[in-house]
Amino acid sequence: MHVIENAPLAPLTTLRLGGPAERLVTAATDEEVIAAVREADDAGTPLLIVGGGSNLVVADDGFPGTALRIATTGFRLDGPLLELAAGETWSDAVTRTVDAGLAGIECLAGIPGSAGATPIQNVGAYGQEVSSVLTEVVAWDRADRTVCTIPAGECGFAYRHSRFKADPGRFVVLRVRFRLQDAAGLSAPLGYAEVARLLGAEPGGRVPVAAARDAVLKLRTGKGMVLDPEDHDTWSAGSFFTNPVLDDAEFAAFLAAVARRLGPGVVPPSYPAGEGRTKTSAAWLIDRAGFTKGYGSGPARISGKHTLALTNRGHARTADLLTLAREVRDGVREAFGVTLVNEPVTVNVTL
Ligand SMILES: Cc1cc2nc3c(=O)[nH]c(=O)nc-3n(C[C@H](O)[C@H](O)[C@H](O)COP(=O)(O)OP(=O)(O)OC[C@H]3O[C@@H](n4cnc5c(N)ncnc54)[C@H](O)[C@@H]3O)c2cc1C
Repeated sequence: MHVIENAPLAPLTTLRLGGPAERLVTAATDEEVIAAVREADDAGTPLLIVGGGSNLVVADDGFPGTALRIATTGFRLDGPLLELAAGETWSDAVTRTVDAGLAGIECLAGIPGSAGATPIQNVGAYGQEVSSVLTEVVAWDRADRTVCTIPAGECGFAYRHSRFKADPGRFVVLRVRFRLQDAAGLSAPLGYAEVARLLGAEPGGRVPVAAARDAVLKLRTGKGMVLDPEDHDTWSAGSFFTNPVLDDAEFAAFLAAVARRLGPGVVPPSYPAGEGRTKTSAAWLIDRAGFTKGYGSGPARISGKHTLALTNRGHARTADLLTLAREVRDGVREAFGVTLVNEPVTVNVTL
């Protein structure tokens, strides 16, 4: 176990923002993770679990407690069954499973961060979500002080949501298990029209699994959604806002607001999201409210490649990023009556 006092957290985040943690502990085995959590809990010290820091917005004041960085390793592939230690780099694991010809997570290529964080917000992209192939999560339960195995059916998965997100801090993920698909080297059915189009395939069709992965990486790179230290458009936490899911009354009010502001012929994107619920696009709302790509003149701006990513241009502070985020959220609410919710986890600060 490696311990540093008063350790800056900014270098551990993809936004490169945030002040120091009182204490930074790096744990390389499950036993070290559990020992560090127990120690913090016994002392009543606030605890922040840090994976790859790609979904964290940390206060400029930092974190008054122990930040525990999960650096465990372990990749085990047994036929289509995959077990990953929480500290494994997610995108590397995707590469290895695609190289093995397995399908199910190929469209989640290029997503930064650790395997252990993928169940937290049910990571998803380009028509796939981890919840569709995840079988169980092995975690340290801080309430019961025991290691538990939680089957997928008890993880409360929904769009960018889970039991772990609903009850933050209770479970420390140690391992994640998946059942991938062996489709003779073919991808899972393509669930995203843009990917299918790029591959010259029909939505729902299958292509060689590596081709699907490569198409996704190409699309992601064009949107600044693959990390590149040289490109400030990727100094982000990915999408800053989730796509709003509206009930029937809210959706009707939204359509009326769109007609008032943009004219009766304008139809916003909409997707069924369960009984009486409709999902619309946060990127569309932000763009149509006037916050276009590259918006902003300060050290924090909207990415030049993607309306949904708020970025650090190199010398921003968290306060700058949050000022921009509030401006966008409030502007969208004023224009369309829809309140956007942040996707990244805010630490010691609120939007
Ligand atoms: C350029 C870019 C593109 C992105 N694209 C996508 C995308 O397409 N789809 C998507 O869903 N997300 C995307 N993200 C967001 C992010 O990559 C994911 O949410 C990722 O799973 C976060 O992993 P992490 O290890 O970096 O978590 P962190 O940022 O370190 O932590 C995020 C949250 O998870 C908790 N946590 C982390 N590890 C554990 C653990 N082992 N046990 C318990 N809690 C834990 C943390 O305490 C925190 O609350 C993107 C981010 C960036 C920067």
